[in-house]
Amino acid sequence: MDHFSLIGGAMHAENVPLARIAEEVGTPVYVYSTATLRRHAQVFRDGLAAVPRKHLAFAVKANPNLAVLRLLANEGFGADVVSGGEMARALAAGMPAKDIVFSGVGKSRAELAQGLDAGIGQFNLEIEEEGVVLSEIAAAKGMRAPATIRVNPDVDAGTHEKISTGKAENKFGLPISEARAIFDRLAPLPGLDLRGVAVHIGSQLQSLEPLERAFERVGELVRELRAAGHTITHVDLGGGLGVTYRAGDNPPSPAAFGEMVARVTKDWDVELMFEPGRVICANAGVLVTEVLWVKPGPVNPWVIVDAAMNDLARVALYDAYHDVAAVRRTGERMTANIAGPVCESSDVFAKGREMDAVRSGDLIVLRSAGAYGATMASTYNSRPLVPEVLVSGDRFEVVAQRISAETIMAEEHVPDWL
Ligand SMILES: *Cc1c(COP(=O)(O)O)cnc(C)c1O
Repeated sequence: MDHFSLIGGAMHAENVPLARIAEEVGTPVYVYSTATLRRHAQVFRDGLAAVPRKHLAFAVKANPNLAVLRLLANEGFGADVVSGGEMARALAAGMPAKDIVFSGVGKSRAELAQGLDAGIGQFNLEIEEEGVVLSEIAAAKGMRAPATIRVNPDVDAGTHEKISTGKAENKFGLPISEARAIFDRLAPLPGLDLRGVAVHIGSQLQSLEPLERAFERVGELVRELRAAGHTITHVDLGGGLGVTYRAGDNPPSPAAFGEMVARVTKDWDVELMFEPGRVICANAGVLVTEVLWVKPGPVNPWVIVDAAMNDLARVALYDAYHDVAAVRRTGERMTANIAGPVCESSDVFAKGREMDAVRSGDLIVLRSAGAYGATMASTYNSRPLVPEVLVSGDRFEVVAQRISAETIMAEEHVPDWL
């Protein structure tokens, strides 16, 4: 459910006409709904009602906008971060350091030290040597770093190969078959408080079955580690719940996910940690763009819009589907290809799409763009960096300014020896 709907034939975000935002802020522009973000945060939490001890850490990489992070902090979410930059954002948004989990396969030594200095709540280790180095850095500071090992359970998440992370051939996590031996070696290190296990098998999962298999393997590992004398107090179950991008998608609901988690983990006696990203924010955002031209094509016309793959990379990156709709409905339909102005053949948002009929100057939205949207934007083709707007009821505010090509040029320098 979201709060982007037609009122009098014109699409609104909550009570604000998207056309008004486009007029005041320009296009392309991302628009997020406060009510949808809050609702998704609450539905996710409610789904886990049967889990007694839990920590919710929003996966910042899905939408790192400071206003979005503040909103989720107000909903009681901490953060799952994968870089020093994301950690700085979570802290700047007001998330307590202890509620921050640091994930990622390539944390640098400087980032590990940054996390220790900030007092973050947990490091999820992905490499044995990373644990040794973290222990050394922490011990030198007279600290002990709370940590888990992230295991790779070797299950097929059944999602797009570019967002699958839990197969043995993926770069993520420690092989679960070696986890016990690695835990034995890392646990005694003086700078580590090695307290659990983490897992995350992929994103946009459409079925609970691979998650359940992964969690069962983690449960077996927890029993094995305890039998070996280790104290296990935390298990991080990652993120990955899929969302509806197109009619007919049927991702598991947070309630069904919560029921499965409660069943599989009922004897674990740990604090469970969750790292939802997409499920919180994907359908809380749209990308509003203006039709520049309608260009005749051999099969279908090309609707050339002012948003491009640099603003929303998901289609070019992993063949993602985004629903398209006209901001002002006329009831007429057309079949078209939708593409941006960037000079790449992959800068195409949709092909052969049956959609509202549009003409030059009309506005359209690409829906479900609140996750992995603005955060992946670039300035390729020297295009401005796309702005972001947050709506609440009948008000809206720009929460990330458009950054012009001139501003970016000002950071460049031509050596005087040229
Ligand atoms: C990307 C990621 C997430 C969030 O995934 P979603 O599919 O957006 O829920 C959570 N944990 C880790 C370790 C990740 O890399």
